[in-house]
Amino acid sequence: SKFVLSYLRINNTFSTILKYSGILFCIIQIIADIVNIFTPVFFYIDRNSEYHDLPIRSVSFIIQMLIFLGASIYTAYVTLKTGGQIIKRYVTISLFGLAMIVAIIFQLLYPDLPAYTIGYLIGCCVLHTFVLEDAKAEYRAKHDKLTDLPNGVFLSEELQETIRKAKGKHFCVGLLHINLDNFKGVNSSYGYQQGDVILCEIAERLRDLAPVQNLARSNTDNFHVILTAKNQDLLISQANHVLSVMNEPFALQNNTLHISASIGLAVFDADCDREANLIHCAELAMFDAKKDDGNTLSLYNEGMKAFALNKQQLEDALHNAVDNNALTVYYQPKVDISKNDVIGCEALVRWQGSDGKWISPADFIPIAEKTGLVTRIDMFVLRSVCRQVLMWQKDGIGSVPISVNMSVRSILSKGFADQVLRILKEEGTPTSLIDIEITESSFMSDMNTAFKTISRLHDAGIHVELDDFGTGYSSLQYLSAMPISVLKIDKKFVDDIFSGKKTAQALVKGIISLADSLGMHTVSEGVEDKNQLAFLVSNGAHVIQGYLFSKPLNASDCGEFLRNRRTRIATVIQTA
Ligand code: C2E
Ligand code: CA
Ligand code: CA
Repeated sequence: SKFVLSYLRINNTFSTILKYSGILFCIIQIIADIVNIFTPVFFYIDRNSEYHDLPIRSVSFIIQMLIFLGASIYTAYVTLKTGGQIIKRYVTISLFGLAMIVAIIFQLLYPDLPAYTIGYLIGCCVLHTFVLEDAKAEYRAKHDKLTDLPNGVFLSEELQETIRKAKGKHFCVGLLHINLDNFKGVNSSYGYQQGDVILCEIAERLRDLAPVQNLARSNTDNFHVILTAKNQDLLISQANHVLSVMNEPFALQNNTLHISASIGLAVFDADCDREANLIHCAELAMFDAKKDDGNTLSLYNEGMKAFALNKQQLEDALHNAVDNNALTVYYQPKVDISKNDVIGCEALVRWQGSDGKWISPADFIPIAEKTGLVTRIDMFVLRSVCRQVLMWQKDGIGSVPISVNMSVRSILSKGFADQVLRILKEEGTPTSLIDIEITESSFMSDMNTAFKTISRLHDAGIHVELDDFGTGYSSLQYLSAMPISVLKIDKKFVDDIFSGKKTAQALVKGIISLADSLGMHTVSEGVEDKNQLAFLVSNGAHVIQGYLFSKPLNASDCGEFLRNRRTRIATVIQTA
């Protein structure tokens, strides 16, 4: 059959022919079975028939015929149900045919045995097994492995169906998009296994709230609930109830854990008029709920679409900027107070939009990370930095190591270390003049790759600095294993030193002594005033980066700063 089909090239018409010929075969078979069973009965009933005296065939014959009838009906059902697809399953149909051929041969050789019936039954069992397998495969394709909830595919089908039903009758359909707040944090502090436990628990809670076909988990910590109610107010109160259920504490490894959720609600109406729109609108509403620390419900409105549109425009413009080299690199000096000198600079990418406005990397780097563009940006910055260091050297400014920020995506990309080393080689820049800044998240998601990459860079003479230290969830064990040279104390902690937060000073001191005991240095970020400077220096953090000494500068201004660094630093310290 495979041979024939490959010649005929399966197309829609052929599929239809297959389907109907399969059904036709089954119908003929069913009619034949019925005739077979009832003919002897009719002869018996009809006293005038010349066959009247023939005894009704044996009970075994009748049973056989009934089995036959059942099997034919089942075959017809399967053919119909699978839309003829079963006939395209070569193995199934070949096995079915083989069973029948063997059965016919046996029947001819031993007319008294119910060989044909048994053959037909075996054929049907084969059919049944494959149908079951298909059903299982279909279930797998539409359900999430971990929680056994329906997945996104199922969701859109079910939503379509619910909307279709709602159109005739007068009830509202709403879709919830639930996303857990800081689920990444749970994963990195407790491990993925415990993260999975939480996800399963969420699924259980949702099962208590709505029928399973109205639920879905589309990916990681994104869940959906289809709601129906008489009016929008009722939908909102149902959604609030879901939010409160999400807020109940979780028990994890003898701890009580509070995880909140951000929920977006989109209602089927003029704005979200198709099932696909509804899913998108609910997601936008969820992003809106996330904006201020999460743990809220947001109802979708038109304004959210405009926000998403802006993001899309930003994304397109960013692509253009990267293609057309519209990005530049700024440099911010790192000052070592104990030496009264600049011991390096941090490279920070800058983007001037076509309207002349500067767009902050805090806005476009996350987008670039999402689209994968960030690696190109990082490599562009690296190459620019390599050239700049050499230029400063040539201009007599001296050797100033520059650190380059690398996103998680870059660090974990294949061949990252090779790519970095290749660029340095191509530009003729010594490795001692380039540092790499990474964040803790780089090694939280794929420890092995990160470890290999960081070690490789370290062995080649490139120092690795851990950026925004203390804001993530790094484990001390990993930290001591990684060849990291510098911990960068995040601006948040520096800001808090004199903000009245009790723990802030203790935390900063803690980070400094941790770095000390692990044989690492510190760089304090975002130092803006003299009190912060005094506190840091008196606690042993000598390397300072921040507006106090200088904002990030373009290459020529930074060159100027470096040339006059001694006087610049002295001026700041004197007034301090
Ligand atoms: P970051 O790596 O933590 O960079 C430090 C940020 O703090 C910079 O913001 C810098 O301008 C700012 N800053 C430094 N001192 C002060 C201060 O005293 N006060 C205040 N208020 N801010 C200060 P920027 O340049 O806007 O960069 C934001 C973030 O964007 C960076 O945070 C970094 O994560 C990312 N980024 C920048 N350039 C690149 C890049 O080339 N590649 C990648 N992957 N990320 C980059
Ligand atoms: Ca940085
Ligand atoms: Ca930082």
